[in-house]
Amino acid sequence: MLMLQQRQQIVDYGLKMIRSGLTTGSGGNLSILSAEDNLIAISPSGIDYHDVTVADVVVVDLSGKTVDGERKPSSELGFHLALYAARAEIGAVVHTHSVYATTLACLHWELPAVHYLVAFSGDKVPLAPYATFGTPELADNIIKSIGSYNAVLLANHGLVAVATDMKNCFNVAEEIELVSRIYYQTKTVGQPVLVEDVEMQRVVDKFSHYGQ
Ligand code: 13P
Ligand code: ZN
Repeated sequence: MLMLQQRQQIVDYGLKMIRSGLTTGSGGNLSILSAEDNLIAISPSGIDYHDVTVADVVVVDLSGKTVDGERKPSSELGFHLALYAARAEIGAVVHTHSVYATTLACLHWELPAVHYLVAFSGDKVPLAPYATFGTPELADNIIKSIGSYNAVLLANHGLVAVATDMKNCFNVAEEIELVSRIYYQTKTVGQPVLVEDVEMQRVVDKFSHYGQ
């Protein structure tokens, strides 16, 4: 079985996505790139995360052709491929329907720097215009809107996070959901005071060498 280790990570992080409340049922999807052999492991389409096994995870090449696995790959394979093609440093992609990020996306709002943790994405989280799920138009909108950010809100849909590996990618999705919730809550009681641009640049800089 190709990419066994990455397939196991797709199973584990799919469950984590459900348990952390970042998605429900079979909503959202995940993928991991193996840069050495130019292959991608991606979650299967429409299978509840509780039921997904390593054998259900699909391995595709960079053109999207299945090279291992019996299942249909995620309907969003197109934007996963487009993200790996657009940014050489991306090693994992996570797509969620997390409630607070999706709430902002349904208002067609971006997520501004209401809290310094937005730096997991950059100085904000941009918004990609609406397009039907699973279409080349949605992939195009995502690529145009994400630029060099690590997260993008999908209008009337959800969130996409990217990072060098799955652990960091999941973390981006989790932290952006937290900041989205904070933003939503501040908007319900007042007018949030945003972190200034120069300060956000400092934080984004610090984040590039944060941690161990
Ligand atoms: P898949 O089950 O095909 O990955 O679709 C879920 C989804 O979130 C579509 O945007
Ligand atoms: Zn979706």
